Amino acid sequence: MYDFTYHRPASLDEAKVLIDENEDAQPLSGGQTLMPVLRARLAMPGALVDLTRIDALRGVNMEGGRIVIGGATTHAEVAQNEQVREHCPALAALAGEIGDPQVRHRGTIGGSVANNDPAACYPSACLALDAEVRTDRRTVPAADFFTAMFETALEPGEIVTAISFAACHDAHYEKFPNPASRFALIAVFAARLGGATRLAVTGGGTGVFRWQEGEQAVDRGEDLAAAPLDEGRFTGDLHASTEYRIHLTRVMAQRALARIG
Ligand SMILES: Cc1cc2nc3c(=O)[nH]c(=O)nc-3n(C[C@H](O)[C@H](O)[C@H](O)COP(=O)(O)OP(=O)(O)OC[C@H]3O[C@@H](n4cnc5c(N)ncnc54)[C@H](O)[C@@H]3O)c2cc1C
Repeated sequence: MYDFTYHRPASLDEAKVLIDENEDAQPLSGGQTLMPVLRARLAMPGALVDLTRIDALRGVNMEGGRIVIGGATTHAEVAQNEQVREHCPALAALAGEIGDPQVRHRGTIGGSVANNDPAACYPSACLALDAEVRTDRRTVPAADFFTAMFETALEPGEIVTAISFAACHDAHYEKFPNPASRFALIAVFAARLGGATRLAVTGGGTGVFRWQEGEQAVDRGEDLAAAPLDEGRFTGDLHASTEYRIHLTRVMAQRALARIG
């Protein structure tokens, strides 16, 4: 580690001032990703602004039929929240399958979407459930938010304040977890929204994406197994080959769809 200053603001306004005043400040949420990054010196911010004590960034609200989850809400809180469980059980189940209990009690939904790990769980729910990412500056549709592996539409210093999801009972998240980390080797979030099928895939290696050819095949009553799947979306590594990930995508999608009928 190296020297940096640590700030724990009590309000979003205070956090914004701290970030504006410190040119190389970085938001800190659960630290489940950022702390290992700092230890490896892959990032060396001069200041960390801890968002987790800001009450306005925590908790769940229903707004006009949508589920709005504060950016500093932990995965464990989402998994246990009665409103999430009632209005989108698949989203609560997804949160309950992230990592291990320690990760779930520290890691946050805002940190997860801001980080956009190509094997993370929430980004697939965001694409499948028509999410909107709210920041201290604007609202960004999920379809425009996840721009590339570990990259998002966030500008420097921009804070994710909440994520709003469509409520949905016809949804299921099917994950083939890496047995060591529990990150997705491949996972598919399937949902039926407005009568149309959505299939969002994470873990492929290049970043979350919607399998639109698969969605169209399902909605036309065709065999999903024969639907085209862009192989350029997938990479291989020590955990799984490209071919295995492609195979898993078809299997996870079929299993997820079978669960929503
Ligand atoms: C062992 C292990 C297993 C895991 N398994 C899974 C898994 O199965 N599925 C899964 O999805 N994830 C998994 N994770 C990742 C976990 O979900 C993390 O919580 C998540 O990646 C980062 O969230 P965080 O709150 O810890 O963010 P931090 O580590 O604090 O921050 C991550 C990044 O986001 C930025 N940031 C944080 N909060 C905000 C904000 N509100 N606005 C803007 N930028 C922000 C930070 O500056 C940093 O760049 C795992 C992690 C570990 C260590």
